[in-house]
Amino acid sequence: MLQRAEPQDFDRVLSSMCTVPHPAAREAAERFLATNPGDPGTYETVSELEVEAVESLGEITGLDDPAGYVASGGTEANLQAIRIARNRADTDDPNVVAPVHAHFSFTKAADVLGVELRTAPAEDYRVNLEAMAELIDDDTVCVVGVAGSTEYGYVDPIPAIAELAHGADALCHVDAAWGGFYLPFTDHAWHFDHADVDTMTIDPHKVGQAAVPAGGLLARDETLLDELAVETPYLESTSQLTLTGTRSGAGVASAVAAMEALWPAGYREQYERSMDNARWLADQLRARGHDVVPPELPLVAADLSVPMTDELRDCGWRVSKTGAGEMRVVCMPHVTRSMLRSFVADLDWY
Ligand code: PLP
Repeated sequence: MLQRAEPQDFDRVLSSMCTVPHPAAREAAERFLATNPGDPGTYETVSELEVEAVESLGEITGLDDPAGYVASGGTEANLQAIRIARNRADTDDPNVVAPVHAHFSFTKAADVLGVELRTAPAEDYRVNLEAMAELIDDDTVCVVGVAGSTEYGYVDPIPAIAELAHGADALCHVDAAWGGFYLPFTDHAWHFDHADVDTMTIDPHKVGQAAVPAGGLLARDETLLDELAVETPYLESTSQLTLTGTRSGAGVASAVAAMEALWPAGYREQYERSMDNARWLADQLRARGHDVVPPELPLVAADLSVPMTDELRDCGWRVSKTGAGEMRVVCMPHVTRSMLRSFVADLDWY
């Protein structure tokens, strides 16, 4: 069974937001496989590593003295951010306002937490602020901005979203689960230093090149995390604020190892390479007559008539579609120029 090949040898995977872990991350994951940062009294080393992980994530996102933890992924981090906002607010009928392109984890979060999710339309792939403002009312507990959307890789106007949130005494949450390790090398205003952001999702197991599972939840202030704390009478520690109990020490250790190895120079090089690849692919597709959404981060969406994507799948390519039916190629670290060249050659053949 272990010999069976997954497409996750990654040589034709253009659809995923996961990637090949950095060698140091892989090695650290193996070493800490049997540890549980959910029980810090017992597993002290990995708990110390988690503090380091949060410090590094704080540095990457412009947050001095960061609070947070390494979650199972972006879904958990987004859910926990909404939980913080709900628990802190004084309303029996809470709602969250998010762009229509917010990841479906917000739909799950709203369902699990009993919160209404209101979605604002987009214009040119970013949220329409006027429409967003109209959805906000006295029961709004959180306003969400996406920094690197799942379908198009676009960045919402985060400072304006933070203003809208605070005008309504709501929290501002930024979902940079995918974009967070590319954005430090761009001019976008997206992080704690650029705007009055309260909480943020940034996932080491995506562009951060850590092993799965390693998501990141950050909060401007430790007191925000207090909203999540439950008592833990059977553990050596007295309370827990994570959603899951037992957690992966492999994810935590590999996140630290990846960030030690790559922040900032390695991630910068990766951003530049991936962005060049995205622009190259966009040009190639345009030259073949396709409508291409200009890439803002390393993600290319193009109006290729599908069933094309099914035929590409048949020759091993893993590509996905946006909700509007465009082909979507995510230029993750494992996506090289030579991979894209053979992808384009296969496109020409069809
Ligand atoms: N947020 C964004 C912007 C994403 O792109 C994704 C996944 O692709 C998530 C959240 C959810 O992350 P995960 O699948 O790690 O739970």
